[in-house]
Amino acid sequence: MTEKFPNHIAGGWSAPASGEYMENRNPARTSDLIGLFPDTDPSELDAAVASAQRGFESWSRTPAPERGLALKRAGDLLTRHKEELARTMTREMGKVLEETRGDVQEAIDTAYYAAVEGRRLFGRTAPSELRNKWAMSFRRPIGVFGIITPFNFPVAVPSWKIFPALLCGNSIIYKPSEDVPHSAHRFVEILLEAGLPPECVQLLHGRGETIGQAIVEHPGVPGLSFTGSTETGSRIGEIAGRMHKRLSLEMGGKNAQIVLSDADPDLALEGVLWGAFGTTGQRCTATSRLLLQSDIHDDFVERLCYEARSLRLGDGLEAGVDVGPLVHEAARDKCERYVAIAEAEGATVATGGRRPSDGGLGDGWFYEPTVLTGVARGHRAAVEEIFGPVLSVIRFDTLEEAFEINNEVRYGLSSSIYTRDVNASFRAVEELDNGITYVNAPTIGAEAHLPFGGVKSTGNGHREGGWEVYEFYTETKVAYVDYSGTLQRAQIDVDW
Ligand code: NAD
Repeated sequence: MTEKFPNHIAGGWSAPASGEYMENRNPARTSDLIGLFPDTDPSELDAAVASAQRGFESWSRTPAPERGLALKRAGDLLTRHKEELARTMTREMGKVLEETRGDVQEAIDTAYYAAVEGRRLFGRTAPSELRNKWAMSFRRPIGVFGIITPFNFPVAVPSWKIFPALLCGNSIIYKPSEDVPHSAHRFVEILLEAGLPPECVQLLHGRGETIGQAIVEHPGVPGLSFTGSTETGSRIGEIAGRMHKRLSLEMGGKNAQIVLSDADPDLALEGVLWGAFGTTGQRCTATSRLLLQSDIHDDFVERLCYEARSLRLGDGLEAGVDVGPLVHEAARDKCERYVAIAEAEGATVATGGRRPSDGGLGDGWFYEPTVLTGVARGHRAAVEEIFGPVLSVIRFDTLEEAFEINNEVRYGLSSSIYTRDVNASFRAVEELDNGITYVNAPTIGAEAHLPFGGVKSTGNGHREGGWEVYEFYTETKVAYVDYSGTLQRAQIDVDW
């Protein structure tokens, strides 16, 4: 009998009122049905919002260091359950176990950072221009936050949002991706076991267009944090703008690794293999463009194709597997569609470009690591996000040209440059139009204690991670305390 999982609404676990469920299947072997998860109807949202508002009333008054302690316990529990959670994630979204362990570790790091931030949530004091008067700023929590997340980091991305939101004294309504509901269920169980107030953590499974959109539109949810595609984020942004909601958007990418001819070729090769084919290319920071200086182009491509062909595809739970499946059929279809478009535009499939033909992988959404050469600036494979193991190689001659190619896409998440030239490195750091630039490292590899996010169509100016995210989940308030016993008028009664 397939297990039916509940939502977590109004302080308890409950079956969806509609009685409707969605299947969750293992993308490496689609015959493996993991469970049935609620297809929640928007009519259930009012109860969740009312409960989250009640939770907010008491949690926001709990001292921040005490809130931090609950997040410390969450970090401890995640550490204890790391292996089990990693396996749960691999089974439902496919990336290899080493990577899902890293996914949990990122949540652990984020929990411990948040725990300490509970003793730090700094405000400022500033000297008043008047005598016997104090001026200071401090941070206040905001209320109920809607948290809407993608499939590719089932625990890490929710933790980037939920931990700082809770630490700051807010409550949350969490709508995970319909592709990774089991990880979300376990994550919320751990938060509750850590002692976070049940009314502060509402978990609503279901579809983006129904329950996701209802959360975005609900007037009782003043803040939203979304990670996902630029298309979905734009729709959410329109609604949030109309309703004056606080909104953080983390969206798509088309990240480039630039290799100059003076680079260490072995290092650059290792970097692009990890950047392009890690997580089966399904990272917002994945390397989807490789910019090679003309004089190293041919040799580099030859070695790259050889190494890409040597990567072992398979079930991420098995030892020795390098690349897991795509998350679902539509994701594999998208890779196939883009490879066909690239060929029609004049590119060549140097390796891959098809489903694997052997090894008993027929039951999963596998696609071979693919290298496209002869991709020209302006080709769709050069500018659009594919979100799979498909790498577009673009040739360039000068550093300036490489920078132009990097900057001419609508996205601006991460970039990387491989070179031994310190001047080129620092120019890249300054001139590449991205939220993150790596020097002699791949486009992936963000650390939890630094700000994370992108420019242009990747984001809307906020950052996750590090110290900056705490600005998003709080509102600054200023207080003036006049103990002069007289009316002192700013700008007017200044006698100096
Ligand atoms: P997606 O946009 O399809 O879905 C993301 C979430 O939004 C899901 O929970 C979905 O149910 C929900 N959703 C869909 N339509 C909605 C609507 N109308 N209203 C409210 N919610 C809605 O994205 P995905 O396929 O899960 O993830 C892949 C995308 O996420 C890629 O574009 C990737 O670049 C991006 N991503 C970005 C970052 C980042 O930090 N910049 C990190 C990870 C993934």
